[in-house]
Amino acid sequence: MLKDFFIPEDWENIQLVSNYHTHNYLCGHAGGTVSDYAEEAVENGMRIIGISDHCLPPLETHDAYFSAYNIDKHYLPQFDEAKQLYGDKIKILRGVEIEYFGGHSDYYKLLTDRLDYMVLGQHLFMWDGQMYNSFIDGTDDRSVAAYFDSVCEAIDSGLYAMIAHPDLIFYRLNKISPYMVGAMEQMVKLATERKIPLELNANGMRYHRNKYPTQQLVDLCQKHNARVVVSSDAHSPDSLCDKYMRALYAYAKSIGLNVVDEII
Ligand SMILES: [Zn+2]
Ligand SMILES: [Zn+2]
Repeated sequence: MLKDFFIPEDWENIQLVSNYHTHNYLCGHAGGTVSDYAEEAVENGMRIIGISDHCLPPLETHDAYFSAYNIDKHYLPQFDEAKQLYGDKIKILRGVEIEYFGGHSDYYKLLTDRLDYMVLGQHLFMWDGQMYNSFIDGTDDRSVAAYFDSVCEAIDSGLYAMIAHPDLIFYRLNKISPYMVGAMEQMVKLATERKIPLELNANGMRYHRNKYPTQQLVDLCQKHNARVVVSSDAHSPDSLCDKYMRALYAYAKSIGLNVVDEII
């Protein structure tokens, strides 16, 4: 929960430029096609729309998401269609949101060969050879530090254009310890050094009861002048430019964060 955040009465007048974190009907828990998002973005006067649906990471075997092996079949053709319909009005970028697990460079190469960018969404992370879930396993200093180590590894890989909800690991915590803030600060410093934007995620307000973005993330981005990207993380086209997204964008600018509109 951000202490000075509020939704202004005239939120509809806050103009957005771009968005790089949006989902798609393919993941099974979102709605809309690439064209639907492009249409919504054009109607709202945006210049760039990036679609970054969930992609199955290496090691994971469930088949709810598309993977690097079948991305050509259902996901990428949608971009051709959208570009035909809206390509003269808006820049449409092909992305995915995906975890980073080290030692699988061949798998990630299949993706980077086909896409314009990748978003790190470290919902799952490896620690001591085991897989953990950021939504449930951030219970103590050690697990939180392991999460931030995994995000730092992802930044080091050079594969990612932005880091989604970097503070997701605090999801279940009521109290964030100074040690945890220290672990996050190492990550913020590395991202700043590498010029990789850290995300303030509007879906944490819209859908996750204000669990993210956290004040601690905002404070560290301010302290280090980190690049910040504000994303809708829209799971349906009508939330692409909703009140949470517009208000969070205005908030980030109003407190002097280093907000970037172009990340590619
Ligand atoms: Zn999702
Ligand atoms: Zn995510």
